[in-house]
Amino acid sequence: ALADYYQQQATAKPASMDAFWMPFTANKQFKAAPRLLASASGMHYRDVDGREILDACAGLWCVNAGHARPRIVEAVKRQIETLDFAPNFSMSSPLPFVLAQRLAELSPGDLNHVFFTNSGSESVDSALKIALAYHRARGDGQRTRLIGREKAYHGVGFGGISVGGLPNNRKWFGPLLPGTDHLRHTLDIQRNAFSQGLPAHGLELAEDLERLVALHDASTIAAVIIEPISGSAGVILPPDGYLQRIRQICDKHGILLIFDEVITGFGRVGKAFAAQRVGVTPDIITAAKGLSNGCVPMGAVLVSERIHQAFAQGADNAIDLFHGYTYSGHPLACAAALATLDTYAEENLFEKAIELGDYWQQAIHSLKGLPNVIDIRNYGLIGAIEFAPRDGAPGTRGFDVFNDAFHKGGMLTRVTGDVIALSPPLIIEKTHIDQIFERLADIIRGVA
Ligand code: PLP
Repeated sequence: ALADYYQQQATAKPASMDAFWMPFTANKQFKAAPRLLASASGMHYRDVDGREILDACAGLWCVNAGHARPRIVEAVKRQIETLDFAPNFSMSSPLPFVLAQRLAELSPGDLNHVFFTNSGSESVDSALKIALAYHRARGDGQRTRLIGREKAYHGVGFGGISVGGLPNNRKWFGPLLPGTDHLRHTLDIQRNAFSQGLPAHGLELAEDLERLVALHDASTIAAVIIEPISGSAGVILPPDGYLQRIRQICDKHGILLIFDEVITGFGRVGKAFAAQRVGVTPDIITAAKGLSNGCVPMGAVLVSERIHQAFAQGADNAIDLFHGYTYSGHPLACAAALATLDTYAEENLFEKAIELGDYWQQAIHSLKGLPNVIDIRNYGLIGAIEFAPRDGAPGTRGFDVFNDAFHKGGMLTRVTGDVIALSPPLIIEKTHIDQIFERLADIIRGVA
C-alpha cells in the first residue's frame, strides 16, 4: 500500500506546480502548458496522460543504455537494501574501488585514477582544481590560468561558467574566476553547412591557442578545457584534426588538456570516450551522465599517472587532495554505474554508435531542404538540426519544433535556441531512427 501511495504520487499531475523552481526553464511558460513524464522503459517514456513518448535524447544525454534496464534496476534495489550510505573521507566501502578500477580499464592512455563526484558540474570544478593543484604540487604554482572556449558548456559551478562560453550562463553572476580566457568556437555554418561527420574547414582555429599562449605566456597557463563535441551549445563539432592540433600545442607548452566528456563519454560516439574515437588522449577526462545511465546522480574525473603521482609525494599520513563531496563514491551511484557498465559491455552498446552511424547520418541529412533548415550536424549517435531564426524572435522556431515534437510527435528532443539536438539511447534500432526523422520532417513542415 505504501508503494502504491508513492507510485500514485509520482505518476499523477501535481496539485500545485508553484513551489518547484525549475532549472534552465521558462517557468511561467512551462507551468501554463506542462510536459510531465511519469514512467519509462527502454526507448520510451510515458507522460502523465499515458501517451507514449519516444526518447530521442536519452533523457538529457544520459540514459545511454535505455530506461529501466533490468540489471541496473536490480543492482540499485539490492544496494539500497544492503548499504544505503557509507562515508568516503578516511573511510569507505568496496564498490568505489571496484568501479574506479573498471573505469581505469575503459579509459584511454594511462588515465588510471578516478575521483568521484555527483554531476558534470562538480566533475568540471574538480578537474580545474586538480589542474591548479597539480602545477602547484610540482612547484609551478604560477600556472593558474584556465582556458575554455566560446560557446562551451562546462556545467554551472563558478569554475565551469568561468571557462564556459555561453553568455547567458555567465552575465548574471558577477566577475567569475579571475585569469581565464577563451578560444574561439568552431561553428562555421557558412563554410561547413550540412557537413556529414566532422567538418572539413576550421583546423586553423586550433592556432587560437598559440595566440593565447603568446598573449599570456605559457608559464601562466594551467590547463585548457574542451568538449570534444559541444552538446549544450547546439552540437558543435571539432574540425577534422583540430583536437590533435590542440593536443600538440598543449604538449609544446606544458599545458594540461582536459576533455569534458560529460556528454561524449560512454558510447555516445562509438567508444567509451570520444578521446578514443578521435585518437587524442587528454590528461584529464570529466564524466557524468552515461556513467550511471542517469538513474542515480554520479560524475567522475579521470586523471593520468603523471598527475596522480604529483599528489603522491607527501608523507603517508598527508592528505593528497583537499577536495571531495559527502557523496563522492556513493554506494547507490557506484552500484548503478557498475550495472550500467555491465549492460554496455553485454550488449556491445558502445559500438552501436559506429554500427548505426551511417544510417543515422543518412536519416538526419534527409531533412536537408525542409523549410528554414540552415544546417544539419552529426557524429556518432548525436545529431543537430539548426533553423533560421524568425525575425526579431530568435529561439521561437526551435522551441515550436521541440514543443510540437512532444505534443504532436510523441517524442522527446532537446532545444537550445533554434537548434534541435538529438542523442538517443544507444539501444535504438533502425525503425526508431525512421520514426524520429519521419515525425520530425512532418513537424518541421508544420512549424515552417
Ligand atoms: N559538461 C558538459 C560538457 C555538459 O554537457 C554538462 C551537462 O550537460 C555538464 C558539464 C554539467 O553536468 P551536470 O548538469 O550534471 O552538472
